This record gives sequence, C-alpha cells and structure tokens, in this order.
Amino acid sequence: MFRLINVNNRAALEKDGYYYDLEALSGAAVWADPLVAVSRFDELHALNENLEPAAATGKVSDVELGAPIPLPRQVFAIGLNYHDHVGETNAQLPPAPLTFTKYPSCIVGPTSNVELSGEFVDWEVELVAVVGKIARSVSQHDAWQYVAGLTLGQDISDRVVQRVGVPPQFSLGKSFSTFGPCGPAIVSLDSFADPSDVELWCELDGEQVQRARSSQMIFSIPALVAYLSSIVTLLPGDLIFSGTPSGVGAARGRYLREGETLTSGAELIGTLRNRMVAGSPVLEL
Ligand code: ZN
Repeated sequence: MFRLINVNNRAALEKDGYYYDLEALSGAAVWADPLVAVSRFDELHALNENLEPAAATGKVSDVELGAPIPLPRQVFAIGLNYHDHVGETNAQLPPAPLTFTKYPSCIVGPTSNVELSGEFVDWEVELVAVVGKIARSVSQHDAWQYVAGLTLGQDISDRVVQRVGVPPQFSLGKSFSTFGPCGPAIVSLDSFADPSDVELWCELDGEQVQRARSSQMIFSIPALVAYLSSIVTLLPGDLIFSGTPSGVGAARGRYLREGETLTSGAELIGTLRNRMVAGSPVLEL
C-alpha cells in the first residue's frame, strides 16, 4: 500500500498526515522525479512499510500539493464511458473507447484555480488510472499489473470549443491551461477493496452534481489499458482519464461561474477543491 504525492515538484509518500520526501528516504536523487517514482511503484510498497513519523519531511496540512504527475508524457481521456452519461447526452453507445487527449500542459494540482475561458465551461469528475510500466499490447487479464495506482481528475471542458465544428475538437476544448486538476495522491491498487468499484462524486458550491461508482463504466480500466496499449505504447506516468458519470453541466443547462468552488472526491483517494477564476477567451479568427 502507498500514497504517492507531489510536494514542491518532488515525489513523496504520504502516511498518517505526514509526508516523506522520496530522495531523503531512499538516498537517491532520481527518486525525487515523480516519473521515476511512479515507474518504481513496486518498490514503494516496501518503503511505505518502514515509515516512522520521526523521519517525516513535514506535515501534509502545511503544504500545497501539486499534481502527482505534474507533466505526464501522454494523457488519454475517454468520452461516454458511463451508461447514464451516454443517456443524458442522447448519444449512441460507443463501439470502442472514444479517446482524445488532454494536452499535458493542462494538468494542475488538487487545489489549483481553474481559469474559465468563457460562459460554457463544464465539470466532469473522473477516476484516473496512472500507468506504472511500459505497456504494449497487454491483455485485459494482465492490465492491472501495468497500473501504478488510481488518482482523481477533473476533465474541465469548454463546450463551445469542444463543439465548434465537425469533427468536434475534444482535445482543444478540454486542454486550456488549468483544465486538468489532478490528485491529491496516487493510491496503490491494493488499498482498495476492489479497484474496479470505487465511488466518486462532485459538488458545486456544496450542491452534489455527480455521484457514481466506477463499476458502472462501459469499458473498465483493464479494458481501456488493453485497448489503448494495442494501439499506443503506454509509458510510466501516463494518465488515463476514464470517463465521467452523469450530472455534467451541459445536461443541466448550467455551467461554471467565477467565484464558485468545485469539489470532487473519490473513496480513499481524497478530494480536489478548485476555485473558478476569470481566464482569457479564445482568439476569434
Ligand atoms: Zn471526460
């Protein structure tokens, strides 16, 4: 079991409210790099066993966490992966995982502000699988072995940019700077009673707008890893946003506004708290 976090752009383990800088723990400078730490996730279990509060680097409550993987090399995101969300968008059931990218520069930490690009910016709480090993054509049966753990993400989406034309522009509409809050920790799979059945939810200024269990996904995380790795080589630290359940703003006719706070949560993983602030609009050509 472990919780891998990012403090001051350095990988650390979290346990019982304290954090432990991984370079300090291991004596090796390379461990400070979150991409290195996540690629050695098998070793994190043993390091976590031997943590003593006396050796802690500090208290988690005293620091602002960054995204556990602040600059992943690849970020995959899946559209329409919960039955009830397919229903609320009046779409057809997808024949295969509908995949787009969130460009990695949109990833921010669990308490980052979100800069609104306009009047039609929406929320999508999502469980995020974090790849831990190079994966190429792995079977669904073996797929969990390539996942370092689960974290939580918000797939913030500008619906105007997303639907500006045909084909739609999912990747751009979901990649404005700050549109990918992630965290607060990468939680090892053995921490969960069942990593395929994790509760997640989302609240806007205290009002619950989404709640579901990841077992309701159309394509499970092992299915996504198997499918994606049959096409793309997956790399340690890659993020797979696994799709959002129902309750998004587009289906409610309501969008994010300046000053609001979006709180997203998942069982064991923890919460993201993101305040909405003014951003800059898209250039009109
Ligand atoms: Zn999404």
